[in-house]
Amino acid sequence: MRDTNFLAENNAKQIWHPMAHPADMRANPPRVVMEGQGAHVTDLEGRTVLDAVGGLWNVNLGYSCEPVKAAIAAQLDMLPYYSGFRGTSTGPSIELAWELTQWFEPEGMARAFFTSGGSDSVESALRLARQYWKIRRQGDRTKFLALKKGYHGTHFGGASVNGNANFRRNYEPLLPGVYHIPAPYTYRNPFDETDPQKLARLCANALEDEIAFQGADTIAAFIMEPVLGAGGVIVPHESFMPLVRDICDRHEILLIADEVVTGFGRTGAWSGSRLSNVKPDMMTIAKAITSGYFPLGATLISGAVAEVFEADKSSFGSIGHGYTYSGHPVGCAAGVAALAETRRLKVNENAAARGLELATALEDLKAKHDLVGDVRYKGLMAALELVSDRSTKKPADKGVMKRVSDAAYEAGVMLRVSGSNIILSPPLILTAEEVQTIGEALDAGL
Ligand code: PLP
Repeated sequence: MRDTNFLAENNAKQIWHPMAHPADMRANPPRVVMEGQGAHVTDLEGRTVLDAVGGLWNVNLGYSCEPVKAAIAAQLDMLPYYSGFRGTSTGPSIELAWELTQWFEPEGMARAFFTSGGSDSVESALRLARQYWKIRRQGDRTKFLALKKGYHGTHFGGASVNGNANFRRNYEPLLPGVYHIPAPYTYRNPFDETDPQKLARLCANALEDEIAFQGADTIAAFIMEPVLGAGGVIVPHESFMPLVRDICDRHEILLIADEVVTGFGRTGAWSGSRLSNVKPDMMTIAKAITSGYFPLGATLISGAVAEVFEADKSSFGSIGHGYTYSGHPVGCAAGVAALAETRRLKVNENAAARGLELATALEDLKAKHDLVGDVRYKGLMAALELVSDRSTKKPADKGVMKRVSDAAYEAGVMLRVSGSNIILSPPLILTAEEVQTIGEALDAGL
């Protein structure tokens, strides 16, 4: 690699960064992350900080997971690539598909369709949902329903089901036939309801209402994150997903659980669906499947949905969809090793235990700082929503958000800012001491 002067000089000059204005990036060049060890990263200036972002909600095992690195190196040596399209397969993809169907057996998942990441997984789920209804000769079922505030990646399908204007407006017109219902977000909702259970019921009623208005026989699927991540860690009451499952069952609408963030332990359970014992019809996964060591994702398909495809005798059942990197052998080898470590280290249990400590720290910060309007958490995913005025709930402005995150960085912790939310999604190998460090840095920042 070229020297540090070259990197500093060219930072943000040739790259356009996702989710950023290019001019902003030139004016305020991003931090250059050079190294990672455990839950820590080191920047170009040689400063080491605790990574409370976990890369981007994905580096659950931290940066020094030797078994994953070794599995990648060994697979690169043996076979760096071969296609998973019709006619060929690779060893690691067979093994990982087996692992995934074992792992998510309680959710009823029976098949895996490999992708290159979360957006691909969502796109694949939406397409397979449409296809499912064509096979069942109900081709009018083309519409999708989703939650406002939901995040489902950036492909045209995913952007269409996204519930945040920031990810939609510049790319409209998006997919027609997509409708959104209010999220069970207790801090801000159109019902002025602060009781999470009552709010869950009101949002479920809104879903039922929308289905009646659209006509159930026009709707292919409803997609939701069991805990909404990028929208600001919105944690629905545990009754919400079962209510949604029941509504989808009654109207024969497929339920897609987007578990790109919540899969593999982040909430304290192995999946977000498992938090409330719901069996979706499809699940989308990515991120922690390799702990970020290789780009990979998958769309998982329930036994009942798979049966419809596999029993089809017409051309409708053939999957006319896939990626060059579907089932990439190096990615799948990384996945097999990452899942073995994830299970061995019981990171779900650590996420639950450290999550309780983090929750206490966040509640203390809310009690101490008027800038904090709301705190939300589940396991090791959390958000602090900052406001300039608690009574009006006016969101804190960009300048305030930057000052808080810069000050926290000075205090030794990398945070992520998303709108007026500070997002926390640290590696799941976090220690109690590191939770304390996060709390202290946030305190300094606020
Ligand atoms: N779905 C959810 C719930 C996500 O949080 C994300 C990314 O953060 C995606 C889909 C898209 O994943 P990717 O960025 O890997 O394409």
